[in-house]
Amino acid sequence: MKTAVFSARRYDKTMLGQANEAAGHELRFLEDRLSRETAMLARGCEAVCVFVNDTVDAEVLGILAGQGVRLVATRSTGYNHIDAHAARDLGIAVVRVTDYSPNSVAEFAVGLLLAVNRKIARASVRTREGNFDLDGLMGFDLHGKTVGVIGTGKIGTIFARIMAGFGCTLVGYDRYPTPAFEALGGRYIGVDELLACSDVVSLHCPLLEETHHIVNAAALARVKRGCMLVNTSRGGLVDTEAAVQALKSGQLGGLAIDVYEQEASLFFQDLSSTIITDDVIQRLVSFPNVIVTGHQAFFTVEAIGQIMRTTIDSIGAFERGEELVNRIPD
Ligand code: NAD
Repeated sequence: MKTAVFSARRYDKTMLGQANEAAGHELRFLEDRLSRETAMLARGCEAVCVFVNDTVDAEVLGILAGQGVRLVATRSTGYNHIDAHAARDLGIAVVRVTDYSPNSVAEFAVGLLLAVNRKIARASVRTREGNFDLDGLMGFDLHGKTVGVIGTGKIGTIFARIMAGFGCTLVGYDRYPTPAFEALGGRYIGVDELLACSDVVSLHCPLLEETHHIVNAAALARVKRGCMLVNTSRGGLVDTEAAVQALKSGQLGGLAIDVYEQEASLFFQDLSSTIITDDVIQRLVSFPNVIVTGHQAFFTVEAIGQIMRTTIDSIGAFERGEELVNRIPD
């Protein structure tokens, strides 16, 4: 099947290409992000393959449908970047990757937490410059601390399991509680209570209308003073400007993020030789108790391999008219 692959980086070309060896779909790799301006690049293709910062709104879907596109395959779990209703109305099927190493993201969240708490990135920069002073590098033991997990699905549960191994007390908040979290010794409580009692809060719920800015100024006013916030889920879960204020006042003791509200125009590209005009991200990276990574939590050999195989399988299933097991819910 002819498929336009947007936001294609070197690793996408290599690993999607490998996954496609047996299937032999005709893949058109495009470095551009999908947008109103670039949608025409999919001309002649029946499928487009996208990533998290591609624009897949009603207008773009309309252009794609007009060119004969009938399938959108996102190389991600989250599909908040896709207007699912518009796709359905236009007769475009949307598939995602529901199951790929959730360990990759959970392990990265733990890594971010350790890095910000124990100042590992700062220490590494210091020692490269011959500075072995410990001043300013003090962290706290995670053992015995309370960790609040918002969203106890696949990733949240693995994160919780690792934190249980550290000897943390687990509290959770989820619209749909699961026995797996409770089996780890986790206790479900309301979100306000979770914010108030947690030394660490880690976000693992999807970005939905109801979870947009779930961590806003009011929520940050409720957190235990000095709390560390970890977000490896979606940038829109946190009101970043409110987080900046909470960092300035000391209400938030640390922030570790792999995702950022305005990441679409920044992430997955090298902007080191340009002037970055986003003042919020620039302010964030200037804090000594903040660590920002560019949406790389999923980026392991295991996860990428699975993402690419599932994507190719979905395209094949669509072509053969089979049931799409990874179709997004209506
Ligand atoms: P999942 O569906 O297994 O778990 C999500 C959990 O959130 C579910 O338990 C669900 O009940 C819960 N939830 C839904 N609505 C909620 C609400 N209003 N309040 C609280 N909880 C709610 O998904 P997952 O595989 O664990 O992935 C979680 C998120 O991680 C994804 O939505 C995605 O945004 C993010 N993610 C990030 C990366 C990355 O590289 N940074 C990679 C993959 C996934």
